[in-house]
Order: sequence, then structure tokens, then C-alpha cells
Amino acid sequence: MMKKYNFSAGPCILPQEVFQEASQAILDFNNSGLSILEISHRSADFVSVMEEARNLSLKLLGLENKGYKALFLQGGASMQFLMTAYNLLEKKAAYLNTGTWATKAIKEAKFFGEVVEVASSKDKNFNYIPKNYKVPTDADYFHCTSNNTIFGTQMKEFSSVAIPLVCDMSSDIFSREMDFSKFDMIYAGAQKNMGPAGTTLVIIKEDILGKVSREIPSMLNYKTHIEKDSMFNTPAVYAVYVSLLTMRWMDRKGGVKAMEELNNKKAALLYSEIDRNELFKGYAEKEDRSTMNATFNLTDESLKDRFDELWKAEGINGLNGHRSVGGYRASMYNALPPHSVTTLVEVMQELERKA
Ligand code: PMP
Repeated sequence: MMKKYNFSAGPCILPQEVFQEASQAILDFNNSGLSILEISHRSADFVSVMEEARNLSLKLLGLENKGYKALFLQGGASMQFLMTAYNLLEKKAAYLNTGTWATKAIKEAKFFGEVVEVASSKDKNFNYIPKNYKVPTDADYFHCTSNNTIFGTQMKEFSSVAIPLVCDMSSDIFSREMDFSKFDMIYAGAQKNMGPAGTTLVIIKEDILGKVSREIPSMLNYKTHIEKDSMFNTPAVYAVYVSLLTMRWMDRKGGVKAMEELNNKKAALLYSEIDRNELFKGYAEKEDRSTMNATFNLTDESLKDRFDELWKAEGINGLNGHRSVGGYRASMYNALPPHSVTTLVEVMQELERKA
């Protein structure tokens, strides 16, 4: 089959074998003679998909038996911007502003109380991660974004805070090893490393809930979804199933540790070419560079048409940068084969030869 080298930022590449298994389940799920799209979400077959998906997400992050619950909700990571605040913000919350998504999270939180922006990298159009900021200890929680998809920066360290730590990991979940028990809540839209768009993984330590005085509508209340094992209403069955297939794939390949090793290699390969080749310049500060989204620009804009022609002719897809940064963005999620990065590097070298 003709395939592209897919550097799309999300929705994005998933493992080929997942696409195959996922399409089979549309035709005949578990040899039942029925499609996964036509069975009840209350059927034993689907209930076991949901259970396995919830358990496997915790297993991959090393969070089993540590007081966490995993949920697969709808409304994207954007819904979590408001649900976190609805459920956790009584008076004041602390936020680190590292980009567009963090800014949106802050905007939603302000509907529910005071928001302290502990630091922001807006002064340099978010090309770095602020350091040495102080998190107020009297805030209800501290919210950060582990990977800034648009700007290509990634947090390498997470300060230990005495208050609950909430993290939007939409674009780097399952990409690197970490002590995930530092976090009291993690959320991630599925459509990068985990699966197709349509579901959002929410992992939450139960003991941080029940502390706000406001009433919370059922659908927006984490407790509702925990009590119903993430089946309060009809879940996004297919998105959850394909996420399960992707998590099984990660597990088979050696889990998050194996993903990290490969991601580090891919990122090193591309960044070393960006740094070596004088026609290119990285956008993010070196120490904050993301292993998932590499952002870079041409040093000579007049080469744009030639470069675009070259990578498109090579079968590369999704390399254009986000409109707020310009230039290029190569997203190298877990499922992107190293060969795709080699191909991009070769195209960059070809431009150099022809320039
Ligand atoms: N947070 C981050 C870090 C993201 O990259 C995105 C989407 N790309 C979002 C939040 C918003 O996710 P959604 O579209 O699922 O609401």
C-alpha cells in the first residue's frame, strides 16, 4: 500500500497494525458476526474493551493500585480545561502559561475562581519553558502542560508542589518514562499517541475530589464517571477501542520505556540536522525542545517553494508549522517510524546541495 511519511500534528499517525486490526473490527468484531459499530456499549464484549483500556492506561504509566482511576471521556482535552476547574477550583488555582493550550485552560478556569499565572513564556512567543517560578501553596491546584504541540517545547522537569498537580499531557502521553505518581491528575486527548480523535483519557487520584462547595452537573462531575466506570453515558466506543489497540501495541513493543528510547533517537536525528544545516534554524530553546514536535524555520525564506516542493515530492505529509509560529513542524509521535525522519533529513540535505 502507498503510504506517506506522516508528520501531522494531530490527528496523526498510528501504528499500521492498529489500522488493520481496527478495520477488521468494523467488519467483524471478535468473530461475533457483528461490527463493533453496531453492538451495545453494555454488551460483555464492549464492557471488557473499556475495562482493559482503563487498566492498561494505568499499567503503562505505572499507576496501578495507587489510588488512581482512569476514564475515557468526550469533549476533547478542551473539555478538561473547564472540568478540572469545575471539580477542583474552590478559590484560587495556579497555572503555568506555556502556550496556546495553556492560555485556553487559563481562560476556562477563570469562570470558576481566581487564577494565578505563575509564569509565562508569552514574551518570546512561547519558544521556551519558564523556570524558577513559585507556586503559591494556598492554591487549590497547579496546572501545567507537559508538551506544547504548537511551539515545540516540552517540560523536562516538574517541580514537586505541595498542592495537587494537574497536567495536560495531550501531545506527549506515553512518550517518555517519568514518575507519574507525582501527578494528581493527567488528561490527554487521544488523537496523538493514544488513538483517534473522539475520546480523552483522564487519570485522576480520587482523593483530590469532593473538595469544592459548588454543585456540579452530572456529566461534568468526575465522580459520576468514576462511579459508573466511565460508562455513565454511551462512550465513544470506536475511539476507545482503537485507543486500546494502540495501547496494546505499545505494551507489546516494551511500553513507555521502549517508546522513549525510539523517540529520543528520532528527535536527536532531526535536531542534529537542524543544527548542522545552515539553511535551517530551530524555533524552541534547545534545552526545552520537544521530542514530539520539532519546530524549525528556513534561514532564507526565498527557499520556501523549493523546499516545499522537495518534501512533498518525497511523500512527506503534514510538515507545515502552525499559523502562530510559521515555518515547519515535524511531529514525531510514537508510531512514526525512524525511517520517516531519515527521509526528512535527506530532503533537508538535498535542499542544501541544490541551494
Ligand atoms: N492540549 C494540547 C497540548 C493539545 O495539543 C491540544 C490539541 N492539539 C489540546 C489541548 C486540545 O485538544 P482537543 O482538540 O482534544 O480539545
